[in-house]
Amino acid sequence: MSLSTLARSIAESPTLNLNEAARVLRERGEAVIHLGGGEPKNKAPQSAALACAAKLQSGDVKYTPTSGVPSLKQAVVRYTQENYGWSVKPGNVIVCDGAKGALFNVLFALLDPGDEAVVLAPYWVSYPEMIKMVRGVPVIVQPPAGSFVPRLEDIAAKVGARTKAIIVNSPNNPSGAVYPEALIAGLVRLCEERGIAYISDDIYHKLVFDGRTTPSPYQFTDQNADSTKIISINGISKLYGMTGFRIGWAVAPQAVVKILANIQAQTVSCTSGLLQAAAEGALSGPATDLEALRANLQANRDVMMRELAAIPGVKVSQPAGTFYCLPDFGAYGKDSTALARRLLEKALVVTVPGKEFGMEEHLRLSYCTSAKDITEGVARIRWALDPQAPKEMRIGAKTVVRDWL
Ligand code: PMP
Repeated sequence: MSLSTLARSIAESPTLNLNEAARVLRERGEAVIHLGGGEPKNKAPQSAALACAAKLQSGDVKYTPTSGVPSLKQAVVRYTQENYGWSVKPGNVIVCDGAKGALFNVLFALLDPGDEAVVLAPYWVSYPEMIKMVRGVPVIVQPPAGSFVPRLEDIAAKVGARTKAIIVNSPNNPSGAVYPEALIAGLVRLCEERGIAYISDDIYHKLVFDGRTTPSPYQFTDQNADSTKIISINGISKLYGMTGFRIGWAVAPQAVVKILANIQAQTVSCTSGLLQAAAEGALSGPATDLEALRANLQANRDVMMRELAAIPGVKVSQPAGTFYCLPDFGAYGKDSTALARRLLEKALVVTVPGKEFGMEEHLRLSYCTSAKDITEGVARIRWALDPQAPKEMRIGAKTVVRDWL
């Protein structure tokens, strides 16, 4: 059977692959530490589980309206008002299969073949591949050396006649950086002047530390819900640690949502009503669930920073949000893929090569695991890199010999 050139050109998801590699090693009884993960360890909030169970118990699980159950859309309307001070109507909301599903629909709606979407490095691995899947062209903007925040003038220089959108992800996966207000304001102005979409991937917007908040693009526009260029994407995966429920949403002008709904109607019809009930339960539940998750991640971030500081030559900027950091391991080689592979095979620590995020010589490390795993995982990395450390290390039931230094 022959497969399309486009389909064959789409890269495997490196992060999902690593999850699988870690699972297989664990099944073999290996003492793997997963610092590559993209999901908090908490259980789904009780309010979500109960709402989902009640829906299941009713036995009344049918197709829902394409753009989502009205009461969930109302909950998203309230969420948008409370968190952004942005007034929208249910017609501005579409519920999709995770933020991923929402992003894909949005890119499909915005780009004609050959159109460009600007992606800011370091970037989440799926943006370039999704843009390619809708036959668009990803245009990458690198930040200045040593920074994770691209400059407005460098971004503006990449906006051309074929540009249809800029994707902004702050707090940022993989760096944990929160973009400053001036950049967000400048990007909103740029998108409004050039008539292009500002796609705000807000999936981590409330997972920020040290009492800070995330500057939102809505602060910097005088447009309204139906004239704005801003399309925001969000979901319950990271906010509530509900990755497996696969519910996300987009907030956009009603005319855009209508097109998104047509795309969704012809592909997946709707997301599951059961899982929408869970999402509504989470959004309507006590704020303490989210605060407990956020506080735990901040404490883990501190553990990660402290442990990394003990590895000579590794440079790391303290993340302001998310559950990732992106330390520079350039002192230990140029090839992040080779380093990550060695750490997995020899030290049984899962990390993600920075190359996948457009940042060679870095590794993305997650701190959404336990403090114990962070401490031990980083200790193993230090051992793997340090020629002065004892040659042998005990990992689980076995002794590993460092024969590469
Ligand atoms: N955007 C970013 C930046 C992400 O990191 C992720 C998940 N890794 C997503 C979107 C997708 O989230 P969801 O599980 O809601 O599809």
